[in-house]
Amino acid sequence: MDFLSQYDPEVGASIREEFTRECRNIELIASENLVSEAVMLAMGTCLTNKYAEGYPGKRYYGGCYAVDVTEEIARQRACQLFGCRYANVQPHSGANANLAAFVALIQPGDTVLSMNLAHGGHLSHGSPVNISGKYFHIVPYGVEDDTEVINYDRVMELAKACRPKLILAGASAYPRAIDFAKFREIADAVGAYLMVDMAHIAGLVAAGVHASPIPYADVVTTTTHKTLRGPRGGLILCNDEEIYKKINSAVFPGTQGGPLEHIIAAKAVCFGEALKPEFKAYGQQVVKNAKVLSQELTKQGFRLVSGGTDNHLMLVDVRNFKITGKEFERRLDEVQITVNKNAIPNDPEKPFVTSGIRVGTPAVTSRGFKEPEMVQIAKLLGMAAQDFASNADQIRSEVNALCGRFPIYT
Ligand code: PLP
Repeated sequence: MDFLSQYDPEVGASIREEFTRECRNIELIASENLVSEAVMLAMGTCLTNKYAEGYPGKRYYGGCYAVDVTEEIARQRACQLFGCRYANVQPHSGANANLAAFVALIQPGDTVLSMNLAHGGHLSHGSPVNISGKYFHIVPYGVEDDTEVINYDRVMELAKACRPKLILAGASAYPRAIDFAKFREIADAVGAYLMVDMAHIAGLVAAGVHASPIPYADVVTTTTHKTLRGPRGGLILCNDEEIYKKINSAVFPGTQGGPLEHIIAAKAVCFGEALKPEFKAYGQQVVKNAKVLSQELTKQGFRLVSGGTDNHLMLVDVRNFKITGKEFERRLDEVQITVNKNAIPNDPEKPFVTSGIRVGTPAVTSRGFKEPEMVQIAKLLGMAAQDFASNADQIRSEVNALCGRFPIYT
């Protein structure tokens, strides 16, 4: 960082500013994490110089013998980690992985049954503003009004009514465990492919604290940068050789050009880390922290969507305090606690305002926070919701002290 600050002071300063923010703030964005130094180092290597269109052993460029090894390590570790036969480690992002899976399995105009964005789904699962919603016929399923969880009987009814070619399970803001066996049953009943996007929970699956979709899904997509704690990127897994061939063609040349071999190297390092026993302990702590945080937030007077959490995240309805998600996000930013506003199911507010925030424990757990820190964070959120003007200084000083006790990248 010092070299960059001297070489290009403008960019160097902005990177240093972000580093300062990450050191100083309590990071509660559920989709973010803190990678290891090794993962970060791998990204900043000469592998960025190399064009390697194609796959190990079958490239369209010379000089690929070294990156072939890197990519093969990444593929093998991904398969070992998730217990599957095939892995494509080239998707540049989660959205790219999802697009490639669609392109591999279905045709434009085909029906896809996927989770409603307003109930916790992701843009790339069929939003009208995303290519998935423009090229495919999307039928959304959601959560029930009263329980705020997925009702699998209702999904079955919808599937029988719309006869989708593909059913997509997985979400960006769903705090409960997803029953992949039920989704398989539904897909089998209507002869659909089952695709699971496990982006949010991949690290929990790797750690064995959330059921794996691998035994049930035809294709599993994920990002590598959320609970899995790797570089920003995507990954596609499957067990069927024919589907694997289609996935490979759909990634390259179907939807991408040359792979980012420096990122693939970092994915390989991340998978290696996730194979270690320490990662299991990390995943367990992420879930324990989320449980405690959700219970403590409830004690503070917040309402949690579905009443709590089974995974790393929770959706917090802030209406009891007569504020919006947007206002609460802004207040917390002021006291160095980072969250994102998030619609709650059937939210009366506009998507840019919202009645809730989404809170997750992956990043703070990487930092070393445990149950006592969760109790303290819930208390600080309660203070910010109640009487912000009087409490802001105290919250900021407690955040500073907490972050000082748990430094990152020392
Ligand atoms: N899938 C899910 C479930 C996600 O939550 C996200 C991002 O938040 C994505 C896909 C997209 O990942 P990316 O931002 O890497 O494209």
